[in-house]
Amino acid sequence: MHLVIIGNGITGVTCALAVRRLRPDARITLVSSESAHHYSRTALMYVYMGHLRPQDIKPYEDWFWDENRLGLVHATATALSTAENLLTLDNGTTLTYDNLLLATGSESKLYGWPGQHLAGVQGLYNLPDLAAMTRDTSGISRGVVVGGGLIGVELAEMLHTRGIEPVVLVRDAHYWASVLPPEEANLVDQQFQKNHVPVRYNTELREILGDGLGRVRAVVTTAGEEIACQWVGLATGVTPNLTLANTSTIETDRGILVDAHLRTSVANVFAAGDCAQHREPAAGEVPIEQLWYTGRLQGETVAHTICGQPTPYRRGIWFNSAKFFNLEYQTYGRAPAGPTAGLDSFYWEHPSGRAALRVYFRAAAPHAVVGFNALGLRLRQAMCEQWLRAQTPVPTVMAQLGAANFDPEFFPQHEKAMVAAFNRQFPQQLVVLKQRKGLFARHWSPST
Ligand SMILES: Cc1cc2nc3c(=O)[nH]c(=O)nc-3n(C[C@H](O)[C@H](O)[C@H](O)COP(=O)(O)OP(=O)(O)OC[C@H]3O[C@@H](n4cnc5c(N)ncnc54)[C@H](O)[C@@H]3O)c2cc1C
Repeated sequence: MHLVIIGNGITGVTCALAVRRLRPDARITLVSSESAHHYSRTALMYVYMGHLRPQDIKPYEDWFWDENRLGLVHATATALSTAENLLTLDNGTTLTYDNLLLATGSESKLYGWPGQHLAGVQGLYNLPDLAAMTRDTSGISRGVVVGGGLIGVELAEMLHTRGIEPVVLVRDAHYWASVLPPEEANLVDQQFQKNHVPVRYNTELREILGDGLGRVRAVVTTAGEEIACQWVGLATGVTPNLTLANTSTIETDRGILVDAHLRTSVANVFAAGDCAQHREPAAGEVPIEQLWYTGRLQGETVAHTICGQPTPYRRGIWFNSAKFFNLEYQTYGRAPAGPTAGLDSFYWEHPSGRAALRVYFRAAAPHAVVGFNALGLRLRQAMCEQWLRAQTPVPTVMAQLGAANFDPEFFPQHEKAMVAAFNRQFPQQLVVLKQRKGLFARHWSPST
């Protein structure tokens, strides 16, 4: 069996490794246009900020691929004929396959703004983007970041660490309004303020102005403000990369359409990760998942089907994590940004604004917990998932919160204050916290 995988991102590489494990005899070829070897896309920002060197974000040594008989081709697949099981590459060669996995990822979404093709205007998705950003922000004093989501705050932090003033444009009234409730967004806003990052809320990009020599010199916002800058980061989302799929007869919509087994409309062609769109996502799940862990999960799942063990994709309980400057964020389960019929939520915030917890639960008895947001706190994933799976009533979760405290050595425990706040907000479901012996005492040794 010859498996060809287009894309050596987390999805493609996970699939390759799983197939190698399941079918030691398989021939496996990974084709990638971006880099000779797999690297961690999520760590791009740390290279720019100087925390890591480019070689530090490669999870495998260069000898690993030969050792595991994984063929690497550093080229772009430009055409796909599913009738002939044939790929054409831009290096003048062709490849045939028995099974094909399209793991082509995403590309930055641009909205056709005037001036978006000027030098110094870009998204951040891949290594060429990182190289362009490094080059074009060298020695500049101000960059404008368009977009109030995860990549927007990353870009702001990246510029900030190099002493460049980032000005952030956020379309909504608060940061990441589609995901975060206003209270959580306010804590992120405090991070912007502490780091002296100006943010324009309720403001969009209208136009990017050039200097007459093809370089950006300013942006104009929908509020009519002209902001002088030497660089613009467009962080307004990503879209599945369909370039190769669209050279074939494979059915696509916003992404490459796949069934529950991640199979496309052509029987021996699969798609997984950022580029795939589930025809029938499970209840409460989205058709296109653009996350590192879902890419890994899909890569592992599709490997089983390719190896003759048909396995439907099951995402399991949703989670995500990120960092907003110094504020860590985790979310588990169902955690909507605004009021939702049938759900209540309890919210606690530390007076310093450096930590917060929100617990979502069903309004109807027995008030099963459905989701969590944590900022500045680390929760144990296994514990949260256990509570969510068991539909644990919120008073039980509140009484056991300490069990989810991930690293008590470093973070002071806040359970007592959280329970007190819960009892104030929901007196009808009063939680009596039994102080376990040593529970609070153990964190106050002089060494910590
Ligand atoms: C800056 C940044 C930070 C992120 N941070 C997080 C995070 O903290 N947490 C999180 O969960 N997610 C994060 N993400 C999203 C996450 O990185 C992606 O969901 C994940 O990398 C997608 O993996 P993938 O393997 O499906 O696709 P990709 O990683 O995009 O890999 C696809 C590869 O295929 C190659 N390719 C495409 N077409 C062809 C072709 N025709 N021929 C040859 N090669 C081709 C591409 O060049 C690319 O290298 C981040 C993304 C970015 C850009």
